[in-house]
This record gives sequence, structure tokens and C-alpha cells, in this order.
Amino acid sequence: MPTMPQKVYIETVGCQMNVLDSELVIGALRKRGYDLTDSPADADVLLFNTCSVREHAEDKTYSALGRVRPIKRDNPDAVIGVLGCMAQKDQDAIRKRAPFVDMIVGTGQLGAVPDLVDKVRATREPQLAVSLGRTDGGRNEVEASFVSYDPARDPSMRPTPFQAFVRIQIGCDKFCTYCVVPSTRGPEQSRPPEHIWNEVRQLVDQGCKEVTLLGQTVNSYVYESGDTRTRLSDLIAGMHDVAGLERIKFVTNYPKDMTDDLLDAVRELPKVVKYLHVPVQSGCDEVLKRMKRNYTAAYYMEMLARCRELVPGVSVSSDFIVGFCGETEESFQKSMDLVRAARFKNSFIFKYSERAGTKAADRYPDDVPEDVKKRRNNDLLTVQNENSRIDHRAQVGKVVEVLVEGPSRREQRASRDREAPGHVTQLTGRSMADHIVVFDGTERLVGHTVRIAVTDASPFTLYGNVLTDEIVGVEATDREPSREPSTSSTNHDAGPRPDRFSLPLV
Ligand code: SAM
Ligand code: SF4
Repeated sequence: MPTMPQKVYIETVGCQMNVLDSELVIGALRKRGYDLTDSPADADVLLFNTCSVREHAEDKTYSALGRVRPIKRDNPDAVIGVLGCMAQKDQDAIRKRAPFVDMIVGTGQLGAVPDLVDKVRATREPQLAVSLGRTDGGRNEVEASFVSYDPARDPSMRPTPFQAFVRIQIGCDKFCTYCVVPSTRGPEQSRPPEHIWNEVRQLVDQGCKEVTLLGQTVNSYVYESGDTRTRLSDLIAGMHDVAGLERIKFVTNYPKDMTDDLLDAVRELPKVVKYLHVPVQSGCDEVLKRMKRNYTAAYYMEMLARCRELVPGVSVSSDFIVGFCGETEESFQKSMDLVRAARFKNSFIFKYSERAGTKAADRYPDDVPEDVKKRRNNDLLTVQNENSRIDHRAQVGKVVEVLVEGPSRREQRASRDREAPGHVTQLTGRSMADHIVVFDGTERLVGHTVRIAVTDASPFTLYGNVLTDEIVGVEATDREPSREPSTSSTNHDAGPRPDRFSLPLV
């Protein structure tokens, strides 16, 4: 009798790097015959890919583990694995708080997951695979213990078949005092350009149109081999002409490594998205110094001006931490001033979360009360949202190119019959300056680049109409005229406004 395929369930917390790691681990398990399930109770293997950047992310994993405990009780053969940053950082704490976990696998050992699952099954012994700590050996030894995990890709594992993350660098050497990443992801190591170019070519052969290059400080990418030195600008130039590739993005940038050659490449190479995520973290020099960011607010603003001068029309976004150790009201006001002046497209704002083992936790008391952190978070967000509104309104009247990703979030929630051919639905995608754009069309546009006339904007979303004679990859006979622009503005996840929904478009 044929055996039933084994099922694997995965939960992912954290950044794009973790999303990519989960995709790769699941791809590897599928090659061993596993099917993916979204029901933990049906799974034979349950994996939790974790994040340690803030305490809240760790709490999420511990509560998820609490939820699966009864599953393990009912099915002792189920294999439960904790992967990623928490696994690397907190093996002992995980064992103590969740002794039923069978497998703990750090960020640098993910390639071992399928074998470790087999080993747990064969021996019923817990398995541990983690890399060395940053001070557990010489640089070379520690580097070698963090293996970049980038096997051949399984297109079915991506959220959309035409978009993919590509890791170009692992680890981080910046050692910002608040941050666990240099410990959880190890020393900064850039992948050889040939490996990256091959991966991009493979992805494009599989139908991928947009790649997002990932690194903790992606613009620090450099690979030296003999006399050849490949910088991020060279790496991008080397993949730019791959036929079928339409867009190249890269995140996250470190302000001190924003070189002119990179900005020139962003301007000159048409496939490179005109968007830079460059976190500033604070507008106060004393805070930046305690964070060990190695720049001042003035330096950051000059860098920002250079980005805008060398790449006209570029969108820039940032991260901020509020309530970092010793942040006074006066120093917080400097972050408020900076966010007002910087006119970011958007900002991600985090309340400082003390992380054991970091320099900040050792040196500085976490002395800003939670309610003050919360208030500062809201205040900064209010100013940023006003700037986002201005930034988005400035797009109204323009025509933008959008790679259509799929139904908008609200559309996905709506229980409408999208199967009917020609059914008009609300679609979403991003412009070349990374604005989220929402418009009406049929699902056959998904995966195509269309030109959208922007008619309206909210602080987080642009609204518009497909320019019917400029759709890429759709026959002219399939199209119908578009409607008149709407003028009202709606909020974030850009659901369909009832009046927009019934009109025949595309
Ligand atoms: N490597 C990227 C960089 O340098 O910006 C991103 C790393 S981190 C995963 C993403 C963001 O989390 C950081 O930019 C920072 O704003 C925030 N972050 C990191 N450590 C934090 C902490 N201990 N508390 C609150 N936010 C933190
Ligand atoms: Fe963390 Fe700083 Fe490295 Fe970013 S640059 S990952 S914030 S240590």
C-alpha cells in the first residue's frame, strides 16, 4: 500500500531573510516527499522559524510553542523544530521553556534540517545544530560555522512565482549596541557574484520578474577574488541584462555605505527600483553615538540629499527606535525634527526592546518607561504619516508602472467569486518607487507590468486606473475602457470602494 505523504507545518516570524529561509527549508523538505499543511494538528513535522530582534517576536514563538504542546502530547511521533535566530541565541532557554522541542537549528545550519528530522525520527533523541558564538573562535572558524543556505529554488514555494528574494550577504559586522543580529546571524559574508547571478538566471527561467537582493547592510556587499572586487553596483550591473528580469530591488542599506557608484547605478539602470530603505534610527547625535551607528544626524541628512540629487525622484524610507537608553525628551525631539525634515516615503518605528547579550544591555539602563516609549512612537508616527500623505499626494496625476502582485488585501478577504472569467477585482502592486498602488482589473493582469494613471492617494496607498492601451502582455481585444478618476481618499489596506467595484475594466 502506498504510504501517505508526510506533512510539514511552518510558522515564520521576522524579516524577509526569515521568509526566504522558510521558503528554502520547505523546498528541501518537499524534495524529500513532504507536503505543506496549514493545519498544525495534521502535521508530522512542525517548524517555527524565529526572530530575536525584539522581545515581542520571541514571545510570539513561545506562545506558538505553548499552542502546539497538546499536539505533541496526542502525537508523540510529531517532530517539533525551532529554527533561526532564537535557536542560535537561546538554546538553553528553549529547552527549559519547551522541553518537548525535538530540534533546535540556528540560522547558519538550516541546510541540515531534513537530515535532522530523519535523525529525530530514527533516534527519538533531541537534535541541536547551531553555529559558533562570535567569540567562540577565530574569525575564519566562526565564519565557517555560519553556512549561507541557498539551494536551488522551488518556484511553488514563493508567495508569487514572479517575485523572489535572493540572499547576497549573510551576517553583520556593524554591532549596533542594541542589536542581536551580529550574534544570531554571525559575521558579515558576501556570496560570490557568480553564485548570485546563476541564482537570478535560474529564477528568471522559472518565470521570476522581480528579485529583491537581501543583506542586513546590503550596500556593504563586496566580494574580492584575486584582483577582482565586486561591489553591489557591479553585482546589479552584472544581472541587469538578464532577459526577462524586469525589476531589481535591494534592502537594507547602511547610511555610511551609501556610495556614489551605487546611486549612479540606481539612476542609470532602468530595471533598478528607485527606492532606498536607509534606516537612521535616531535624530540625536548622543543617542546615535550610544547606539554605535557611526554617523551623526547631519551626516545622514547630507547622505539623504546626495541620494535625492543623484537619483532624482527616488523614494527613501527609514527605521527609528524610540525610547533607547538615555533618550531624553530633548533628544526625542531631534528625531521628530529629523523625520519632519527628511520627508521619508514611510518609516518603521520601534520601541526599544532590551536584548540580553547586547552592548546596550550590558552598558546602559533601559530607562525610558514603557508609556513614554509608546507616546513617542505615536508622536513620531503622526509626523511620519503626514509626510507619507504629502509624498503620496504628490504622485496624483502621474503615470506609474506597476508590477501587479494580486488581489488587494481587502479583496482577498472578500468572499467574491473571482473565478468567473473577466470578473473585475481590486488589484495591487508596487510602482518603481515602491508605492503601493491599488486599481481595478481582472486577475489575468497578475504578474504583468501595467501603466497606471494615479488619480487619488491616501498616506499609504495610491489609487488609479489602468491605461488600457499600455498593458504589457495582454491582448488589446481583452480590454475595455477605463473609468473616470475617483477623488476620495481611503486608508491603508486599500480595499475596494463600492463604487469602484462594479465597473467593467480591462
Ligand atoms: N540590518 C538592518 C538595519 O541595519 O537597518 C535591519 C536590522 S533589524 C532586524 C530591523 C530594525 O529593527 C532595525 O533597523 C531597528 O530599527 C530595529 N531594531 C533592532 N534591534 C532593536 C531593538 N533591540 N529594539 C527595537 N528595535 C530594534
Ligand atoms: Fe543590527 Fe546594526 Fe547590523 Fe542592522 S546594521 S543588523 S541594526 S547591528
